[in-house]
Amino acid sequence: MAGVLLPTACPACGALGAAPCARCSTLVRPPPVLPAPPGLDWCAVLMAYEGVGREVVARLKYRNARSAVPWLAAGMAEAVARRGTGGLDVVTWVPTTPERRRARGFDQGRLLATAMARFLAVPCRPLLRRLPGPPQTGASRAERLAGPRLAVRRRPPPGVLLVDDVVTTGATLSAAAQLLRAAGATHVAGSVAARRSARLTAAEADREADP
Ligand SMILES: [Zn+2]
Repeated sequence: MAGVLLPTACPACGALGAAPCARCSTLVRPPPVLPAPPGLDWCAVLMAYEGVGREVVARLKYRNARSAVPWLAAGMAEAVARRGTGGLDVVTWVPTTPERRRARGFDQGRLLATAMARFLAVPCRPLLRRLPGPPQTGASRAERLAGPRLAVRRRPPPGVLLVDDVVTTGATLSAAAQLLRAAGATHVAGSVAARRSARLTAAEADREADP
C-alpha cells in the first residue's frame, strides 16, 4: 500500500475524498458505556458500532476498503492517549483467520495496529496466532462465547495494547488478554474501533460475531 495513491471515497456515503467525509464524521456516535471485557485493564473505544461507525468498520472488514484506516487509527490512538500510554511496551492485534486474511488480502487488525503504533510511538509486534478452527462468524453461540482459538507466538513484554476492530461479545479480547497474561504480560489494555451496545439478540450476535 505504501506509495500507492488510490482515489478514496467516504465508506458511509460514497462521496469521493476523505474517508469518512467531513459530514459523515460528524454523525459518528460515541461508544456505549460498558465495562472493559474481563482480562483487560481498560478498553478505549472510538465509536458505537451503528450508523456511520458501523459502515466504516464493516466496509473495512468485508469490502476491502482500507481508506478509512488512517482516520480510524488516529481516533483510536487519541482515545488510548486519553487513558495514558504509560506502561504500554508494545501494540499487537487479534489476528483474523488465515482463510479470511487470504480472501481479503489483508488482516484489518494488523493494519489498524500498525497505524496506531506509529501514532503512539510504540513498537508493533505480532504476539498472537490463530489455531485451526471454525471462524467466529457462523459459529454457534456457545462456540462464540468461548472465543476463538488463539495461541501466543512469543513471550510478550509487560505492557500490551491489544487492537481489534469490533467488540461484539468481548469474548475474543478476553481470550487474547488471558493468554497474554498467562505468557507473562502484567498490563493488558484494549483499543477498539467500534463496540456494539449490550442489547444484542442471539440472532444479531450470530450475524455480527467477531470473526
Ligand atoms: Zn460521507
